Amino acid sequence: MKINSVKGMNDVLPTAEGDSVAFNGRLWERAEAVFRDVMRRYAFDEVRTPIVEEAQLFSRAVGEATDIVGKEMYTFEDRSGKKLLALRPEGTAGAVRAYIEHGLPMRDPVQRWWYFGSMFRHERQQKHRYRQFYQVGVELFGVAQPEADAEVLSLCNAILVDLGLEGIELRLNSLGDEQCRPAYLELLSAFLRERREQLCPECRDRLERNPLRVLDCKNEGCQAVVADAPASHEHLCAPCSEHFARVRASVDRLGIKYRLDKNLVRGLDYYTRTSFEFLASALGSAQQTAVCGGGRYDGLVKQLGGADTPAIGFGMGVERICALLAQQGVPAHAPALFLAIGDEAAREEVLALATEARSKGLAAEADFRGGKIARQLGRADKRGARFAVVIGGNELASRRAKLKDMRGGEETEVALDELVAEVARRVGG
Ligand code: ATP
Ligand code: MG
Repeated sequence: MKINSVKGMNDVLPTAEGDSVAFNGRLWERAEAVFRDVMRRYAFDEVRTPIVEEAQLFSRAVGEATDIVGKEMYTFEDRSGKKLLALRPEGTAGAVRAYIEHGLPMRDPVQRWWYFGSMFRHERQQKHRYRQFYQVGVELFGVAQPEADAEVLSLCNAILVDLGLEGIELRLNSLGDEQCRPAYLELLSAFLRERREQLCPECRDRLERNPLRVLDCKNEGCQAVVADAPASHEHLCAPCSEHFARVRASVDRLGIKYRLDKNLVRGLDYYTRTSFEFLASALGSAQQTAVCGGGRYDGLVKQLGGADTPAIGFGMGVERICALLAQQGVPAHAPALFLAIGDEAAREEVLALATEARSKGLAAEADFRGGKIARQLGRADKRGARFAVVIGGNELASRRAKLKDMRGGEETEVALDELVAEVARRVGG
C-alpha cells in the first residue's frame, strides 16, 4: 500500500513546479538567505525552541477562547499519561517560556531573538492555509519605547523589500492596554449586543467570551456589522495614545506606508498596544492574504510567571512568502562547472577538480555514474550548467582539457591546473 503525506503537510522539493511551485526548495533557500541577512543587520540572534510544549503554555498565552487553542491545536498525551502536550501552533509562547525559564530578565532583559520553524494548526484546508507551516519571526524583549515597534516594523519591511516583493500593504492598529481596554471592550460589547441578530452563530458565542474576536470574523454579515464598530485606537488612555502616535510618526519618518485598520485585532489574545499585519493582495483569496502578523505583548512575560517585561514581535508565513516569490519565477540554481567522466581512470581527478571548484566558491557537479559522454553532457544541459568539461584518458595524459561554454557552445583549451581559475574568471565576467 502506498503511503502519502499527511493532509495539509507539504514536501519542499527542488523539483516542485506548477501548482506546488511555492514548495520549490530554491525559493525557500532564497527566502531563508534574506531572513538571515536581515536579522544580522538588525542584530537579532537566532533561537530554537522545541516543537512540542506543554499544552497549557498555549492555552495560557494564546488564550483558551481563541480558534488556535480552542479548535486548531494538535494535542496528545505523553506516553506517561501524565502530561498533555501540544505541537506548537505559534512561536511566541515557547520563546517567552524560554526567556523566563533561563532567568534572562535578571541577566539582561533586552533580548533580540529570531526563529525559523514549523508550526501546526488543524485548520480547514484552503489555499495558502496548511496544517504544518513555517514561520520566521522575531521577539524583541525588554524595550517599551515606540522606536522598538518602528524597528520591528522596519525589519519586517526590509525582508519584503530585499525579497523584491511589491504590492504588500501594512495595516496598523492599537489595542490599548489593561488600563484602557476594559472600557473599550464594554463599549464594543454593547455595540455588538445591539446587533446580535446580524452576527453569525459563532460570533454570538464570541460576543460573550471574547468580543474582540468578532472584529476579526471573516463572515460577510459580521464584517458589515463591525464596519461601524467603535475603534480601539480612538479609546486609548493617554500613555497608549502617546505611544501609538509616536509609533506612527516613526514609521512615517522611515518612509514605510501603512493604513490604519480599526478592526485589526489578530487571532491571539496576548497583544497589547501596537498590532499590525502585512497583506499581499497578490495571494488572491481575500481570507489568506496575510503574510505577516505581529504586535506588542507587554503583559505576556508577567502573565506566564516572569518579571514585568515589555515585548514586541511578529510571525511571517514562509509558504505565503514563497508563493509570492514563485510569481516572479524560480531562480536557476545551476552549477557553474559540470564535470563529465570520459574514462574510468579519471574519477579521482574529477572528484579533485570538483572539490577545488567548490573550495573557490563555485557550484560544481559531476556525474559519477559515468557512461556515455553524450548522456552526461545532456545532464549538464538539463541542469543549466554554465561550463562543462570532459575528463578522459587524453586529458589525464596531457593535463589539458576543453572547457565548453554551454551557452554559446565554443570550446577553450585550458590546463587542468588552470581550469577552476578560468571558470571563476569567466563566471565573474
Ligand atoms: P490568518 O489570518 O491567515 O488566519 P493568523 O492571524 O492566524 O493568519 P498568525 O497566527 O498571526 O496568523 O500567523 C502569522 C502568519 O503565519 C500569517 O500572517 C500567515 O502568513 C501565516 N499562517 C498562519 N496560519 C497559517 C496556515 N495555517 N498556513 C500557512 N500559513 C499560515
Ligand atoms: Mg488563522
